[in-house]
Parts: sequence; structure tokens; C-alpha cells
Amino acid sequence: MQVKILGSAAGGGFPQWNCACPNCRALRAGKFRGKARTQTQLAISADSTSWFLLGASPDLRAQIEATPELCPRNNENATRQSPIAGAVLLNADIDHVFGLLLLRELQPLSAYATESVRRIISEDNSMFAMLQRVPGQLTWTNFTPRKTFRLLAPSGENSSLHCRALSLGTHFPAYVSSQRRSELASGEASLGLIVDSPSGKRLAYMPAVPKITDELLKEFNSVDVLLFDGTFWSDDELMRIQGSGQTAQQMGHVAVSSPTGSLAQLAQLKRPRKIYIHINNTNPMLNEASPEHRQVRDAGWEIAEDGWQFDL
Ligand SMILES: [Zn+2]
Repeated sequence: MQVKILGSAAGGGFPQWNCACPNCRALRAGKFRGKARTQTQLAISADSTSWFLLGASPDLRAQIEATPELCPRNNENATRQSPIAGAVLLNADIDHVFGLLLLRELQPLSAYATESVRRIISEDNSMFAMLQRVPGQLTWTNFTPRKTFRLLAPSGENSSLHCRALSLGTHFPAYVSSQRRSELASGEASLGLIVDSPSGKRLAYMPAVPKITDELLKEFNSVDVLLFDGTFWSDDELMRIQGSGQTAQQMGHVAVSSPTGSLAQLAQLKRPRKIYIHINNTNPMLNEASPEHRQVRDAGWEIAEDGWQFDL
């Protein structure tokens, strides 16, 4: 399985359009030791021909153009075609699903989501009907947390990628009405994904983790690569920088630092290669000259950048 990290920032990207935090200011001034990043987006493939997106970020158009494998191939018989076979959606956040709207040009696609996430997207947001204008355009498949499901191309062809979603967060996005919320299953709100490669190797993709449980630790010890929530360095990061707002915890993210942070809690993991992803523009570890960056690297973690890829 090939894994491509097309984007590695949290919602808003880095720099973020309305942010003048020390990181965003320094980056715009050309004085930042570190890289700009687009909003988190992954693509995986077992055969290098057919690709599945994990999430569908608002930056997807530029991310596709920056990735030759995801661009249409020379084909005299079909001008309109894409190597993108579908997308697995792990929550209904705008920065995780907006990109679907960018794929609306009548391309057959498979979409995988929990029943709750599918209902929010396709029943409550009428714009997404653009993806279902003709038969066979977007085919939804529901998955249930903990149960294994296969990724199939719209033609029904088996990608030989096997997935299992883990229930992580219970909060639906703020735009979901209270009426709709009352009809949904909270365990279907925000998920992480375990992907089994045909090679026997295993990937964990966990962009939003509110709490590290013993069950999660056990799962993480069974994977070869862990892509983990690196949104915030500290729990009060946004409140300190903005002067108001929510804690990382309230937003569904365990912070990287502190005794209860992911750096400390995941130090015991021996097996996986550990990579932080979904990094907010305020996070000091983005600055490669910072002590926070050094601390993370010294602990054996990597910090994802756009364009990274690896084989599993
Ligand atoms: Zn910023």
C-alpha cells in the first residue's frame, strides 16, 4: 500500500487566512524556520492505479494537482477520468468533507462513512446533491465502528484494502441542528481508521483523538505507522493566543505536551513509526528552531509535511 500525505495542517491550514499568531506572522514575513501546510488529507492505494482519499479537504483541488498520481492519465478514449476511486469520511467537519464538493464533475466515486455522518452530509446539506445528479455518480457505503470493511472502486473492483474504524469523539460539528443531533448515534460522530495493507502491514490514521484509552494503546501497538492528532501543543493554546475560545480538550483533541499529553502517554509504544499530523497553525512545534520541535523529535516522533509518502 502506498500512503501519501497531501496535507498535514489542521482546519484553516498554515498560515490561516485570518490569523496573525507568531507562527503565521513569521511565515508570511519569510522569517519562519518551517513549512507552510495545507489542510490534512491522505490518499492510499494498493495498486498505484486506484486511489482512495481519507477525508476530503477544502484544499483538495490544489493537493490533487500537486500529486501526479492523482491526476487524469493520458487516455484517448476518455478525457474525463480520475485515478481517485473514492473517499473514506471519518467525521462531518467542514475541513474534512468540503473537498467532496470539489469532485462534483460527474466522476463515479465511492464514499464510506457512518450512517450518522452520511445523513448529515447528504440529507441536511443540499449542495452535496450535486454529487448525486446521475445514477452511479456517488455511491455511499455505511460502515459501523469496529467492523472491518473493504474499499471497493465504483465499478465494484476490490482494492484489497481493509479498514476498521474506531469510535473516538462524540461531538458532531456545530452546524448540525439539535433536532438532527437527537436522531444520530454519538459513537458515529468522529472516528479513527485502521487500514490493513495486502502486505500485512498496518496504518492507523487518528487525526482527532480526545482521549488516549488502554484500548487505543493496544491498537496502536499493533500498527506499523501511527498518524496521530498533533493539533495543539497545549490545552489552553487557542485561549492564550486568541484571548478566548475553547480548550483543546473541548475541541476533541488531546494536547501534545503536559503529563497527560500524547507525547507522554504514547512514549510506551514500541512498534509503530510515530508521526504527528493535523497540526494547528498555532502549534509551536511547527517551528523547527523551537524547543518544542526539538522535544518532539528527540522523543522519536516525526512531524508530517505536505508531500510525504511511504509504502506499507
Ligand atoms: Zn496562526
